[in-house]
Amino acid sequence: MKFLKIAISSVLILFVLSCTRNQDNSVQTETYKKLRKTMVQRQIQARGVKDPKVLAAMQAVPRHLFVPEAQRNKAYDDRPLSIGWEQTISQPYIVAFMTEQLGVKPGDRVLEIGTGSGYQAAVLAQIADSVFTIEIIPELAKKAQETLTELNYKNIIVRSGDGYHGWKEKAPFDAIIVTAAPPKIPPLLLEQLENGGKMILPVGEYVQELVVVHKTERGMEMQNILPVRFVPMTGEIRK
Ligand code: SAH
Repeated sequence: MKFLKIAISSVLILFVLSCTRNQDNSVQTETYKKLRKTMVQRQIQARGVKDPKVLAAMQAVPRHLFVPEAQRNKAYDDRPLSIGWEQTISQPYIVAFMTEQLGVKPGDRVLEIGTGSGYQAAVLAQIADSVFTIEIIPELAKKAQETLTELNYKNIIVRSGDGYHGWKEKAPFDAIIVTAAPPKIPPLLLEQLENGGKMILPVGEYVQELVVVHKTERGMEMQNILPVRFVPMTGEIRK
């Protein structure tokens, strides 16, 4: 009898504890959701991003889960953040701006070079059919994969390797986004772009320009749209 009493009270205590923990979590989730709403309104809509698909994706993806725990309270600030290995997660506005400029649509197959935290891939995966993303630092690729699996993204494939070569077996892509800056446009990426497709990437060494390439029947149309500052693309392109 005594044993039964102890067992029942232990179960009750555990139940109460787990409720408080869940409540803590849901309060946190709500707080982050509000911060995200403010981020979308003040940093993204206010600067002219209009595509409702992009705005909904930026509202949906829990950015705080893509940054190291010590940075969580800064996750919705108007700036890039360190993610370790001397790499950064881009400023929210840049992620939204590039996604809008890329013109990603439902049904698209997208290639990303520079997975980093996996955040940009998640934003793209909210809109597109599938996202193939390559990261040169194996530890970052592994971490991004873990975050994306935990968040149940089933339409993102992460690969560790040098994105300079693109991903031939999965090509062609409707859209390609590069989030590390090469000194010049990697030719294999242009080859792996579908006719009518778009690519967006920062190009340059110290001074970089965000370039949009549109692959048309007449050839490649290039447009410089914004001066930017990204981490350099490493690997084969430097040889
Ligand atoms: N898109 C990321 C941020 C990118 S930071 C995010 O949403 O968090 C740029 C990333 O590009 C870094 O993680 C860097 O390691 C990676 N990178 C640099 N050169 C690369 C290459 N040649 N191939 C693949 N990834 C590369």
